Amino acid sequence: MASIYPGRIHSVQGLRVVFTGKAWAPRKELHRTVVAMGGLPRNHVSLESEELEILVRGDSARWLMSDFGIKESDIATRLASGLPSAIVSSDEFERLVSEQQAARTRQVVAGLPIDWMVPTTRGRFRRAAAIAGPLDRYHSRAGRIEQSFLRQLHVKPGQKGLVRCALCNRRFPAELVVAAHIKPRSRCSLIERRDAEHVAFPLCLMGCDPLYERGWVSVDAQGVVSISSWMHSIQALETLARRLEDRSCPSHSPQTSKYFAWHHRHRFVQ
Ligand SMILES: [Zn+2]
Repeated sequence: MASIYPGRIHSVQGLRVVFTGKAWAPRKELHRTVVAMGGLPRNHVSLESEELEILVRGDSARWLMSDFGIKESDIATRLASGLPSAIVSSDEFERLVSEQQAARTRQVVAGLPIDWMVPTTRGRFRRAAAIAGPLDRYHSRAGRIEQSFLRQLHVKPGQKGLVRCALCNRRFPAELVVAAHIKPRSRCSLIERRDAEHVAFPLCLMGCDPLYERGWVSVDAQGVVSISSWMHSIQALETLARRLEDRSCPSHSPQTSKYFAWHHRHRFVQ
């Protein structure tokens, strides 16, 4: 794991420590414990500090963003700016405090796998892309590294941190958008898999990614979205179908057209 997000925390000596949610003891007592360990208890996550910042995550029945709160989203902002950070569960932190056992860091930050959050290098991407056949973007390590690099290029938060889907043109929080292969990864040559700038495009998980993957939606030679005629016959898909039909896809270009052409010819269900 890149040092921007260490896999384990061995000590909090000299480090800022912030608590969120409910931990095993009252907040004041936790802060005293951190001081006794040489750490610096703080009430908020700093968006500027260049030292490693640790967020200890307890329980909460009501996070602001359903599964995480504002402090965790600040950690995500830090990671996006390249500032070293770590999230540990309060159970892990308690073990560090009472048994001096290294605390393992959480592998999901603000709803996304940590490998997607931490910028990766083209070298690591090229090694991951060299693996033939399908790669699971959530579960295999190489898949997460590959997805991380493709996301850096294609999933770019704009206004209010939202990302625009290249098919439906709606804007979503980044955790609802993936960098999807235009031509299925498993059918790409090594050179195509490594063509990071052109082989992928941003798709929302709110319909477009699974529909494109199944070929119920495609993009034609003119860069116009085509939809499978039977989508109109399914009531639940009708609204999205109408939204998508005849829209022009901003990711279609002279460099990407061969990937779209493959999808349209081999995957599109008329
Ligand atoms: Zn979409």
